[in-house]
Amino acid sequence: MRCVRSTDTTPEKRVRSLLHKLGFRFRLHRNDLPGKPDIVLPKHHTVVFVHGCFWHRHQGCPHATTPASRQEYWLPKFGRTVDRDKKNQQLLGQKGWNMVVVWECETKDLSKLTEELLRLVAHDESLVGQRQSLSIAVAAEKQANYNTEKNSKVF
Ligand code: ZN
Repeated sequence: MRCVRSTDTTPEKRVRSLLHKLGFRFRLHRNDLPGKPDIVLPKHHTVVFVHGCFWHRHQGCPHATTPASRQEYWLPKFGRTVDRDKKNQQLLGQKGWNMVVVWECETKDLSKLTEELLRLVAHDESLVGQRQSLSIAVAAEKQANYNTEKNSKVF
């Protein structure tokens, strides 16, 4: 029997599907930009990175743990990732891109994520009036996810 997993949504997919619902147009993994951003929104001149809390060292996050053993291996590895992120951020800034980092742990709360994305990506006052309908869309999404989970348990 095939095992049906109830959560095939990675953090990046969650952000993508939310942006799509909010009506944003975007492109994925543009190789020609520093750091190969996960999501690029050309109209808003904004790039979005969806970062795993562990690898990218989300400060103050409980998921950004440091393994107790082999720290001589882990610490430089973490250091390189963080340095690379900083460098890419600088380069993108120099090229005039607005940059948004969404941490993995922030993709769990969809209504909060919606608020953040609208604030950081759109900078658009005309969208504020639509928030009512957006929260309804988010509620509908939650219901849909719930139904999917329920269904996948049946199979
Ligand atoms: Zn985190």
